[in-house]
Amino acid sequence: DAYLPAASRYDSTPYRRVGRSGVQLPPISLGLWQNFGENRDPLTLRTIVRRAFDLGVHHFDLANNYGPPPGSAETQLGRILAQDFRAHRDELVISSKAGYRMWDGPFGDGGSRKYLLNSLDQSLERLGLDHVDIFYHHREDSETPLEETMGALDQAVRSGRALYAGISNYSPEKTRQAAQILADLGTPLLIHQPSYSMFNRHVEDGLLETVDELGVGLAVFSPLQQGLLTDRYLGGVPQTSRAAGSAGSLSERQVTGTDYLDRVRGLSAIAEDRGQSLAQLALAWTLRHPQVSTALVGASSVQQLEQNIATVQKLDLSEDELARIEEFAVD
Ligand code: NDP
Repeated sequence: DAYLPAASRYDSTPYRRVGRSGVQLPPISLGLWQNFGENRDPLTLRTIVRRAFDLGVHHFDLANNYGPPPGSAETQLGRILAQDFRAHRDELVISSKAGYRMWDGPFGDGGSRKYLLNSLDQSLERLGLDHVDIFYHHREDSETPLEETMGALDQAVRSGRALYAGISNYSPEKTRQAAQILADLGTPLLIHQPSYSMFNRHVEDGLLETVDELGVGLAVFSPLQQGLLTDRYLGGVPQTSRAAGSAGSLSERQVTGTDYLDRVRGLSAIAEDRGQSLAQLALAWTLRHPQVSTALVGASSVQQLEQNIATVQKLDLSEDELARIEEFAVD
């Protein structure tokens, strides 16, 4: 069945400018880390991507290793892009990354020029695209000179395989250095991708100020702390949930502790007073900083996606609400 995107798709999203750049992103974007592997129903994935786009979400975040198995999220999205988005490629912001282990040997991991550029070519092949919009170095590599890694991002942009350069999981200090090297090369650093949620507040320790000064945007990941900041685990651990799965990034132990449940109940009460779900409160809270260009959420169903995107209908938080949240929003 042919896909005709909703004509209203750009009408009600308050797009946000990424740092001092020409790029605008939706407050909520879709990440394809763990929910787009080969073990997922392709029809559900196609429905999720179509629905996201219909609701104004034009940004999809990937990395070489997303799946499982690694690479399959790019393959799955590539299929959907070919089926449904041929006429809309230039409306989309597709990002990918390299930096975690992807293939055997010294060039399948880290920050070498060889790894980044070879990996980007592989990502483009899987996605069926001739360029991505943002290409990130996925994590710091202290063994490789930063000049080499940033040189590879510059080359990715200059060669047309990427339109913008990004970094992820970099400290404030390395962020400054990376931005300076890229500026000297003539390819500005567009965006940084750190983790950030009510239960993980390290960016408040310097990174927010750093990117503000540099004019760099932030795409924050795991804003729902992988599902902990939702109602997903309030009645036990569902079989289909991430905590019950085998990926290992979220354990059953984390979602059943009384300390955890107390905090989530406290936050849920605040959300309820606002007429929002806990997930929506958690997302609005990360977006209270103007430096945060977008919050990258994962969704395993259309319902989750819709609920998360609806956050944009109520983003404002009062001083009183913020003060109440402080009691529970601890690492
Ligand atoms: P989230 O914190 O948004 O967690 C997503 C999970 O939360 C979903 O899979 C789902 O769990 C649950 N969930 C989402 N919405 C709801 C809802 N409304 N109600 C109940 N449960 C909900 O983010 P992720 O950890 O998935 O990360 C998001 C993206 O960030 C990734 O896809 C990736 O693009 C990026 N990322 C980047 C990293 C980096 O190093 N740069 C590292 C990690 C992520 P369930 O599956 O159980 O249904």
